[in-house]
Amino acid sequence: MPHDVLARMPPELVPLAELALDLWWSWNPGGPELFGAVDRERWSAGGMNPVKLLRDVAPGRLDVLRRDGEFLARLRKVHDAWAADHARPSRFSDVATPEHPIAFVCAEFGVHSSLAIYSGGLGVLAGDILKEASDSAVPLVGVGLFYRRGYFHQRLDRAGWQHEYWIAANPEELPIVQEPHRVTVRLRGRDVQAAIWRVQVGRIPLYLLDTDVPENDPTSRFITSTLYVGDRALRLMQYAVLAIGGVRALRALGIEPTLFHLNEGHASLAALELLRERRAEHAPFAEALAEVRSRVVFTTHTPVAAGNERYDVGEVAAVLDGLAEQVGISDDELHGLAGGKSGADGRYFGVTELALRTSRSTNAVSKRHGEVARGMWQHIWPGLDVHDVPITHVTNGVHLPTWMSPPMRELLDRHLGDGWIASRDPAVLARIFEIPDEELWAVRSRLRADLVAYVRAKAVTDRLARGESIAYAESASSTFDPGVLMLGFARRVASYKRLHLIVHDPMRSIGLLRGHRLQVVIAGRAHPQDDGAKSIVKTVLDLRHVEEAGSRVAFLEDYDLAVAPAVVAGCDVWLNLPRAPLEASGTSGMKAALNGGLNLSVLDGWWSEAFDEGRNGWGIASANEANEALQDARDAETLYGLLEREIMPAFYDRDAAGIPRDWIRRLKASLHCVASGFTTKRMLDEYASRIWRAGASR
Ligand SMILES: *Cc1c(COP(=O)(O)O)cnc(C)c1O
Repeated sequence: MPHDVLARMPPELVPLAELALDLWWSWNPGGPELFGAVDRERWSAGGMNPVKLLRDVAPGRLDVLRRDGEFLARLRKVHDAWAADHARPSRFSDVATPEHPIAFVCAEFGVHSSLAIYSGGLGVLAGDILKEASDSAVPLVGVGLFYRRGYFHQRLDRAGWQHEYWIAANPEELPIVQEPHRVTVRLRGRDVQAAIWRVQVGRIPLYLLDTDVPENDPTSRFITSTLYVGDRALRLMQYAVLAIGGVRALRALGIEPTLFHLNEGHASLAALELLRERRAEHAPFAEALAEVRSRVVFTTHTPVAAGNERYDVGEVAAVLDGLAEQVGISDDELHGLAGGKSGADGRYFGVTELALRTSRSTNAVSKRHGEVARGMWQHIWPGLDVHDVPITHVTNGVHLPTWMSPPMRELLDRHLGDGWIASRDPAVLARIFEIPDEELWAVRSRLRADLVAYVRAKAVTDRLARGESIAYAESASSTFDPGVLMLGFARRVASYKRLHLIVHDPMRSIGLLRGHRLQVVIAGRAHPQDDGAKSIVKTVLDLRHVEEAGSRVAFLEDYDLAVAPAVVAGCDVWLNLPRAPLEASGTSGMKAALNGGLNLSVLDGWWSEAFDEGRNGWGIASANEANEALQDARDAETLYGLLEREIMPAFYDRDAAGIPRDWIRRLKASLHCVASGFTTKRMLDEYASRIWRAGASR
């Protein structure tokens, strides 16, 4: 079914609607600018959503544009690039083909802020993977859920306490079209129907299941309403719709994947659905399982226990009654796949356990996480030495065209030449070291100034909205300074991310801020049910009333993909303080580095691989300490020490030309390190050669 927005366009502007219906526009040069030129005010007010823009724009404006030769020439240029990109032949034919693609199944996808079906790092990474699969011409399809009310929005009250609200999406304002098929999944003894939507992410289709159809009862309609709903049974139903419904959706669409990539344990029921299919054809259990395993790979994303959900047998029975029988296996066989150790204790259903036992390959998402995961899951392979546990790692990366801001990209285009992004030739990337310091510093100063302008505007509005005084609200616009070192911390506020370390010694933090040499941007949403994380937000926010210091800290509400680009691009120093070893990878520091930001981070996840003994940023060696208070105290001490003795002096150490040479030396090392080693391009190449290729993994 074609999207309505196509029919609203005069013929000259149909190509504009075609671009609006493919999220390709969002990461390719000229895309956002083109829609901005349609109606600047509506473009930003509407959350940079081109479908909404084209529905809302005044017909008179469209009439002007269809006669505007210059606009039409720009449109043709972008549309030609889009068409050429889609016409390229696929690559990686030894791994997958358009007829038999890889199915990438994930509970969330963060492709663009206008499609709010993600909560944080896992989703943004999955979105980056789809974009890279498109750029790298990998035959792949995404499978996810269409959450009509998405993840929550964050609002802080005057006391600094977080409140949540949800906004229902209007599918007509989104770049999605409904497929003419439905699938059914049996949950709580009733047949729950799911519609299938398709989103185009460049060359990659993303199929989203949606139980909000009139035929379903109210509870079943709610299954795909919001991400990771609080109720455990409802969450299990989400996983069932995603995974069982996802496999059935691909069958209904006539797509025959060569491989199912289960991205995190939420998707693991897909393996049982594949097993059910084989058992229905009367394959013996062992043979059916072997066949399923040959077509499933799994990526585990979290060493935090709560992220690897377990259900007891009764909970599973309440949602998926007779699961073993439906699959065509015995209860013992099911337990053997999804359970824990033997004995009464082990009689639970673990989503990660199931994925580990039904996939031919499991990988963690950084080298350190690989070590942690092998220890954590050793019991699944009794008798194996921890080093022999068959879990490898592919370190995460970020999608460079999404996360490198236009000013930095223009600079690199100029010095590295066209085509550097597609080739990532090491010899070309090495030219980063030859870019004149002055030019890099000019870009840094520009990006910092852009963030200062952004903070000045957003902080004032955020503060007024929560009822703060005009004087305090406006103080943001006078104190944030484009010449002052900008420190940033932005990500989900989970306890293990330790935002609280920033104010571990409040007097010392205040002392640093009072010198007019440091300003701080903080952003992040706490899980609605995590009161501990909410009090951390409140504690940090309490700083705001401290004279001469409080106004130099801005908390930007409702951190998401609309806020992230300005923040990761504008910070000079990017802070990450996870409680080691709980950060599986982390990706925001890579985004900062692609814009010339320097990482100041605990040596955990990706940073423990990338950190180059102080040449490309700063590391906090955090011992895995049983006493958390002690670990916090030590790490906070290191953090303050580095800021006071190394980082702030280095930033302000300028030569006669006003350039911090030493700082820029680090910046180049950091930019080069991430552009060559920590992007989704390297990551997908590695998945293709080590994970996806049949027979490639152990
Ligand atoms: C990159 C990103 C994250 C993940 O950040 P981490 O460093 O992995 O914690 C979360 N939210 C948004 C909006 C992002 O862009």
